Amino acid sequence: MVGGLFKNIRSNLDFWRTNIHINDNVLHSAHEMGVEKVVSCLSTCIFPDKTTYPIDETMIHNGPPHSSNFGYSYAKRMIDIQNRGYSEQHGRRFTAVIPTNVFGPHDNFNIEDGHVLPGLIHKVHLAKQSGSALTVWGTGKPRRQFIYSLDLARLFLWVLREYDEVEPIILSVGEEDEVSIREAAEAVAEAMDFRGELLFDPSKADGQFKKTASNAKLRRYLPGFQFTPFRKAVKETCAWFDANYADARK
Ligand code: GDP
Repeated sequence: MVGGLFKNIRSNLDFWRTNIHINDNVLHSAHEMGVEKVVSCLSTCIFPDKTTYPIDETMIHNGPPHSSNFGYSYAKRMIDIQNRGYSEQHGRRFTAVIPTNVFGPHDNFNIEDGHVLPGLIHKVHLAKQSGSALTVWGTGKPRRQFIYSLDLARLFLWVLREYDEVEPIILSVGEEDEVSIREAAEAVAEAMDFRGELLFDPSKADGQFKKTASNAKLRRYLPGFQFTPFRKAVKETCAWFDANYADARK
């Protein structure tokens, strides 16, 4: 069960319970059926809030997560514990990937429940229709590393086929590719040729200021992997949303 910052703030208990049930049902059923490898999906938002940067794979359990999404974070951290257990007790290769903020075609573009990029894309679409301004929630100052869903899918297949560790691996663009929420909003405005005003609403939460992750481990395995440039990926996602507005999840 996933959602953007604002859905997490509203439903921490539901995120905890649903994900804990999914974790145990999926992993234990896989074990009972003799499945040898499972790749679960964590997120960089589960890392400790008070930390040093960049964050790496060894730091998952080193302190409380940000209070806005404690339910999701603690539930997802338990996948790492469970993977270790299946490895030590039963020799299974159950592992996990840790992506940064994912976006792309077929995302959930719901403004209240979804993540920031699909939310902004939907808002720009509506602002263009009504001729109004784009309101970006929060101060626009928090920073995020975004990963295009098509890049993540390629990396997922590599993990499934080639990655043999039980320890998780961060799937992220480099630290130098981190952008502010303001820059992300500007990229969406440019991609959708939105000429209206950008307003910021600081009465809405900023969430975690940043969760800058290191992709050094990924780079050791795949030094040549090419990520789609952020602005190109945003353009493709906006074009997909415009072309599929009627059927998109929103
Ligand atoms: P997070 O990365 O786990 O915090 O989740 P999100 O993808 O929901 O990103 C939240 C960040 O984007 C916060 O700093 C919000 O204040 C900011 N933000 C700005 N506008 C929006 C919006 O329309 N939707 C969402 N979800 N976040 C927004």
